[in-house]
Amino acid sequence: MSSDTKGALPITIRNVTKTYGKVHALDDVSLDVRSGEFLTLLGPSGSGKTTLLMVLAGFTRPDCGSLKFGDREVIRLAPHLRDVGMTFQSYALFPHMTVNGNVGYPLRLRKVPKDEIAKRVEAALETVQLGGFGERRIDQLSGGQRQRVAVARAIVFEPRILLMDEPLSALDKKLRDQMQIELRHLHEKLGMTTVYVTHDQREALTMSDRIAVVNFGRIMQLATPRDLYERPANRFVADFIGESTFLKVIRQGGKVLYAGKPLKFHADLPDTDNLLLMIRPERIVLSPEGARRGANNFDATATEVVYQGDSFLLHARLADGHQIVMRGAARGDRMSSMPAVGDSIVLTIAPEDTVLVDGAEA
Ligand code: ADP
Ligand code: MG
Repeated sequence: MSSDTKGALPITIRNVTKTYGKVHALDDVSLDVRSGEFLTLLGPSGSGKTTLLMVLAGFTRPDCGSLKFGDREVIRLAPHLRDVGMTFQSYALFPHMTVNGNVGYPLRLRKVPKDEIAKRVEAALETVQLGGFGERRIDQLSGGQRQRVAVARAIVFEPRILLMDEPLSALDKKLRDQMQIELRHLHEKLGMTTVYVTHDQREALTMSDRIAVVNFGRIMQLATPRDLYERPANRFVADFIGESTFLKVIRQGGKVLYAGKPLKFHADLPDTDNLLLMIRPERIVLSPEGARRGANNFDATATEVVYQGDSFLLHARLADGHQIVMRGAARGDRMSSMPAVGDSIVLTIAPEDTVLVDGAEA
């Protein structure tokens, strides 16, 4: 495929709103997708992800707002004139057609000559590692193969923009993990600006250049996977991505106090009255007995130890009654020195892992 002859395009979304009755499926969404970027819309079911993709593809007309591909306003343009490939949440393949018939469909729609269609369909099938499968019927294919057919159909006309709506959600975990890597490689090879939808935070972290976290039709945060995980902008993002527990802390000038003691932290201090300390289970550690009593120590009582094979979870109760959870690597040496339920312990977070978030529900 020769997508580089056309080049990727940036997408500029401005103030897009879509309501269904009283439901704000999209609530004043503005978002810039960079040229050639792999951007993921991540959010819970019903948050507006599909609606936003449908607006980009042209199947849904928003109530208001602007949408540009490059410099061109496309909000009123019909789907087949937008140069956008899309895979749908249900694969939406034609079951009565062969693989060739399905993949060639967008080219027939665009009146491409027959011999050219055959060539491009075969090339697209090669790209998704389905070379030689053209004569098969859709119902003779596995879930993973059907997904590849859907991708081949989306890229066969070499669109400058590729949209994928939860393409892997129907696959089992092993195949999903493998397809995540494959789709990422495909993106690197083709270089199309890609907007990918998932509700699976791990999938989003694995695949994306940047992630837009969506809730109630709004973008809660747009950031790289790492920034999103390390520096969530608000409680919703901190909760949705990874595991965490939250402790209410008190702000006093530039200082932050928990249980009357100042916390050491390197990150920004959010400007809010509702300040929370976010504790990721893998970032809090069990201090060995007699360790130097430095900053950010928490006296606690072990309440439960759960063995999970590759790791263990230690549940602990703080003096004020709050429960926190710590995850540790389940190595033999550590497991033998695990506290027992009821033991007094000290948990510590390093200042660089001490993250404060705005507790207000946006
Ligand atoms: P997601 O893809 O994140 O699960 P959707 O974009 O499908 O979310 O839906 C967002 C909200 O808009 C939901 O509350 C959904 O019920 C509503 N919605 C979406 N499409 C329609 C429609 N065609 N008619 C009525 N309500 C809709
Ligand atoms: Mg959806």
